[in-house]
Amino acid sequence: MKNRKGFVSNSSTSSFCIYGTNDFSFGDPIEFYKTIRKEFPEQFKELLKDLAENYGGDDSDEASKKIIAWMQGGMEGNILEATIVRGCEHPIKEGDEEKNKFCSECGKLTWVMDHVVCEDDIESVLMDDTYWLMEYFPELTYVSDGDVMMVALGFDYSKAPDDMTFGEFRKRAKKMISKFAGKELECKHIAEEYSC
Ligand SMILES: [Zn+2]
Repeated sequence: MKNRKGFVSNSSTSSFCIYGTNDFSFGDPIEFYKTIRKEFPEQFKELLKDLAENYGGDDSDEASKKIIAWMQGGMEGNILEATIVRGCEHPIKEGDEEKNKFCSECGKLTWVMDHVVCEDDIESVLMDDTYWLMEYFPELTYVSDGDVMMVALGFDYSKAPDDMTFGEFRKRAKKMISKFAGKELECKHIAEEYSC
């Protein structure tokens, strides 16, 4: 597993000083990943490669493989949609077109619901280890409370390039954080001390 940058876990107290927001949450995983794909195509590609390695292999469950394939296919359509497929191999006879009918040959349902990817599946694949994806955004610093809550997201002042003015730094931070959030976000100076 990847290292989690920006989160100091081996001390009981930490402090941070960033220009950013306290108003960020990952929200709906599908929408979030669509935003990343749109705004950060390079990072999305990297992310997809790692996800496919971790969750798309032969030993992964069907739901995980389906989610990865859907992401690789461009995230078109609704992955939560259920589809009705044929339940047995026998040819359809008169009257079998209806749902909830049993095949006269084998007794199986003639039509069944295809495996549906549910929101829990998506969350377990995409959001289980939410913060590892921050690895793809080394410029961004996030601070979590050690659980799943984002306390702050922003640009660390100490990492600002020497030749950048404060105004440029703020502008750049706001632009990237807004992209990351998928909406315009107001940014501010955030300095806090917190306990892990
Ligand atoms: Zn049958």
